[in-house]
Amino acid sequence: MPLDEPNDPVEVVAAALVDDLAEPTRLLAARRTEPPALAGGWELPGGKVDPGEEAVEALHRELREELGVEVAVGDRVDGPLARGRWPLGTAYAMTVHLAVVTEGTPEPIEDHDALRWLTAEDLYAVPWLPGDLPIVDALAARMAVP
Ligand code: C5P
Repeated sequence: MPLDEPNDPVEVVAAALVDDLAEPTRLLAARRTEPPALAGGWELPGGKVDPGEEAVEALHRELREELGVEVAVGDRVDGPLARGRWPLGTAYAMTVHLAVVTEGTPEPIEDHDALRWLTAEDLYAVPWLPGDLPIVDALAARMAVP
């Protein structure tokens, strides 16, 4: 049974950007610059789904805007809410997909000031935002040690 969720949560989508969809050995973490309460925390890059937009469409748009890359989207990483979403606090619900870069090199263009490709060994070397931490735990189980 999916967990109860708030009415009309704000829909967010994020990418678990990895080096390889089938056998990921690295995950991209991005350090937020805003809002002040979240600045300095690390997250899976993504953002709000606009009205009328599909989550995957929003993911492509956000990664283009924030990191300047085109991606191929892979499996959804399922969380406990309906449609595999993850709760972020009480007002947000986030869809997460594995993805790989198909064009460009990720740069912190907007919303972030640092990026790191983390291996399974240093996955917890950055202070993840609390909402992202359970997702990182789920990803840790999928990551291969190179
Ligand atoms: O990036 P944006 O501000 O559009 O994201 C909306 C909200 O979703 C943020 O305020 C943040 O609380 C949350 N978020 C998160 N982890 C992510 C992406 C977004 O906690 N990976």
